[in-house]
Amino acid sequence: MSLTVFLRFLRHSLQQLESSLIQTAGLDRNLGPALAVHGPSLLPQPQHIRDDESSEPSFLDSIFWMAAPKKRRTIEVNRCRRRNPNKLIKVKTNIEPCPECGNLKQKHVLCGFCYEKVRKETAMIRKQIEIKEGRPHNAPTVETVVLYENEAPRDVDKEKRIVERSRNRPFWFKL
Ligand SMILES: [Zn+2]
Repeated sequence: MSLTVFLRFLRHSLQQLESSLIQTAGLDRNLGPALAVHGPSLLPQPQHIRDDESSEPSFLDSIFWMAAPKKRRTIEVNRCRRRNPNKLIKVKTNIEPCPECGNLKQKHVLCGFCYEKVRKETAMIRKQIEIKEGRPHNAPTVETVVLYENEAPRDVDKEKRIVERSRNRPFWFKL
């Protein structure tokens, strides 16, 4: 008996709380059929709301809105685009072994390995000149001859600038 009384009291208090909440929210408790009136589509807006909007800039005003896709593209469409033959890397057929060192290189292109060897040897020759003559590298009026080990200057080279290297002459560095 006391349980039913308590349940009734609980239901009543919950209904009261609900009605008070609805009243504070500004909604009518008894929603009935409303009368639809054909009025002007553009209703005048209250003035104070517009004043509030203009005085307080919204945080959305500073956002730069980007274009966003409206439809999802299917995985088939995406894969067709990604694996299009025009987008794939072309198979190169102009590759051949270097006749000097044997590494693979493109036809009609300098071999990178041979070029690196020549570049290092040239840097060493430049360093030798720097030790001998000091900085800066002034362009000499005479020709330069590089002599390797066990090499003697020829008669034609007597007048030229001679750079001596303490190693055997590389097979690719012809005189
Ligand atoms: Zn090579």
